[in-house]
Amino acid sequence: MSKKVIIIGSGIAGISSSLKLKSYGINSTIVDKGNFIGGRISTKELKSDTSSSFFFHGAQFFTAKTNKFKEIIQTGIRQRYIKEFGNFNPKRYRGDKTMRDFLLNLSKELHIQQKVKITEVRPTNNKICVTEDKIKELVSYDGVISTVPAPQNYELLNHFPLLQKTLKTGSYHSCIALMFSFDKIPFDLKTHYDLNKQPGILSWMASGSSQKVWTAHTNESFSDLNYNKDRNFLKKEIMSSIEKFFYRSKIKFHSLHIWRYAKVARKCLGPQIDPKYPVAIAGDFLEGPNVEAAFISGNKAADLIFDRLK
Ligand SMILES: Cc1cc2nc3c(=O)[nH]c(=O)nc-3n(C[C@H](O)[C@H](O)[C@H](O)COP(=O)(O)OP(=O)(O)OC[C@H]3O[C@@H](n4cnc5c(N)ncnc54)[C@H](O)[C@@H]3O)c2cc1C
Repeated sequence: MSKKVIIIGSGIAGISSSLKLKSYGINSTIVDKGNFIGGRISTKELKSDTSSSFFFHGAQFFTAKTNKFKEIIQTGIRQRYIKEFGNFNPKRYRGDKTMRDFLLNLSKELHIQQKVKITEVRPTNNKICVTEDKIKELVSYDGVISTVPAPQNYELLNHFPLLQKTLKTGSYHSCIALMFSFDKIPFDLKTHYDLNKQPGILSWMASGSSQKVWTAHTNESFSDLNYNKDRNFLKKEIMSSIEKFFYRSKIKFHSLHIWRYAKVARKCLGPQIDPKYPVAIAGDFLEGPNVEAAFISGNKAADLIFDRLK
């Protein structure tokens, strides 16, 4: 089917939408304002003279409970860009060597443009016009899937009040991620520390592509209260919590990343596609607070757009 569809966001929901449209014979274009593919499945490089290591400062792992996502995982394991993480039941997975490798491999045959920010989505006669910030020019499409986090999606879709109504019903927790490293890997180091049920401000700490590079996440209550506080204050608070765990080792601070919209607290309820125009929304905010849910939501948006366009 020769239809022109744009997908806003190269996170897992965007990639899943594009893959599903491709299975229907529709080639879509994914655009994303960020420098790299993946959205909240993010990876940051630490270069040394001889090699590079990668922090995973967003999603730490993914699960596969649905058959659709299990297929994706099994393909990735066979093709060696996904591996099992730890020894959990149900199983958890990570990209191999990095979380970004998961997305890069999954999207190998898709058309993706990074560093393109969409500023407006507007209906015209039979088409949907989309404006991007750099060329400030309207480009028309037969269909649009927007996978931007719900509050930002709400701003973007101001010509589609029914979708806005859906987007207004959800909410997110924030998360503050502190990336740190060791010159020398401590002797008795684990690969991860689940701190969710422990007192303090952290929820999770885990290594990235090697035991040298680590990310610590603050828990929901600390994050929601403090995400907009001074970065030096946040750095100090988190560093002092980490030091308790690694008091015998020298910890090097690398950087701080603040996720305003990290994990879905309350899902959005309502229609996923506009009643009149071929504009759909997708993302974790419709299905649940994780990678797999965002993937499923992308599949559903593609089904809805395909039905509308055929
Ligand atoms: C710190 C943290 C830890 C997490 N841990 C886990 C975990 O361990 N396991 C798990 O399963 N899930 C985890 N999650 C949740 C998981 O990462 C998300 O549910 C999932 O990645 C969401 O995917 P998405 O495609 O819906 O959205 P995103 O990944 O947010 O993708 C949206 C994309 O839209 C782009 N965008 C936004 N505005 C525009 C615009 N105007 N124009 C163009 N592009 C735009 C953004 O750059 C982004 O790339 C975690 C999330 C965070 C932040």
